[in-house]
Amino acid sequence: WPLPWRAVGLPPGFPPMKFLLAFDFDHTIIDENSDTWIVKCAPEKKLPNGLRNSYRPGHWTEYMGRVFVYLGDNGVKEDVMKRTMTTIPFTAGMVDLLGFIGENKELFDCIIVSDSNTVFIDWILKAADFHKVFDEVFTNPAAFSSTGYLTVQDFHSHCCAKCPKNLCKREVLKEFLDKQLEQGVSYTQVVYIGDGGNDLCPVMFLKKGDIAMPRQGYTLEKKISQLAQNLSPVECSVLVWSSAIDIMSYLKLLIKE
Ligand SMILES: [Mg+2]
Ligand SMILES: [Zn+2]
Repeated sequence: WPLPWRAVGLPPGFPPMKFLLAFDFDHTIIDENSDTWIVKCAPEKKLPNGLRNSYRPGHWTEYMGRVFVYLGDNGVKEDVMKRTMTTIPFTAGMVDLLGFIGENKELFDCIIVSDSNTVFIDWILKAADFHKVFDEVFTNPAAFSSTGYLTVQDFHSHCCAKCPKNLCKREVLKEFLDKQLEQGVSYTQVVYIGDGGNDLCPVMFLKKGDIAMPRQGYTLEKKISQLAQNLSPVECSVLVWSSAIDIMSYLKLLIKE
């Protein structure tokens, strides 16, 4: 990474080392899909077939909007949803990892880029007291209406042909890094931690000195290895994890250097 112009002429060791940790949420921080878990609140813990089959590829946010209308129509209230969502388990080792990052915030900036929504992520992070670990959360904005229905909107619109219409995580990462650079913050390394197909787009944006950490056995890992087999590997380093303790071990090495 080239140094920003502000760094020119500063003594060695400045700007201080700082790492950016970019996390996906579903199946990465929590060991479930939050949008699937909310169905536990529905009558008989399932959705009617017509609703379930109404999903069109690339239009997930609209589909979840219809799920929330169904829950509202069936009298499912905010407190019930919150109680259900905060029982989702974290992935193995994640509580330790987030605790470790929280103790080393001077070295790590930490963001979430997720296709879940602001309400679910807020509930889950606050219930576990992890909200201070994260500097920013980029996800679909959600809120309860005056009639008590949960509503959700697209995070943004974008021009990437590879991503669902509501969210391109590459765009989010790029904009965040540009914004930080404008404020004089450049990162020694970007670490991207995720599991899903929509995490490939941001991973392909990472540079040689960065690192992608795909969860073992999940779509992102498979897509990254397919690229390597097709002789067009990603530019960044790749380190597979199965427990978040693996990620913590790597970060400990990183800050020892
Ligand atoms: Mg995920
Ligand atoms: Zn994209």
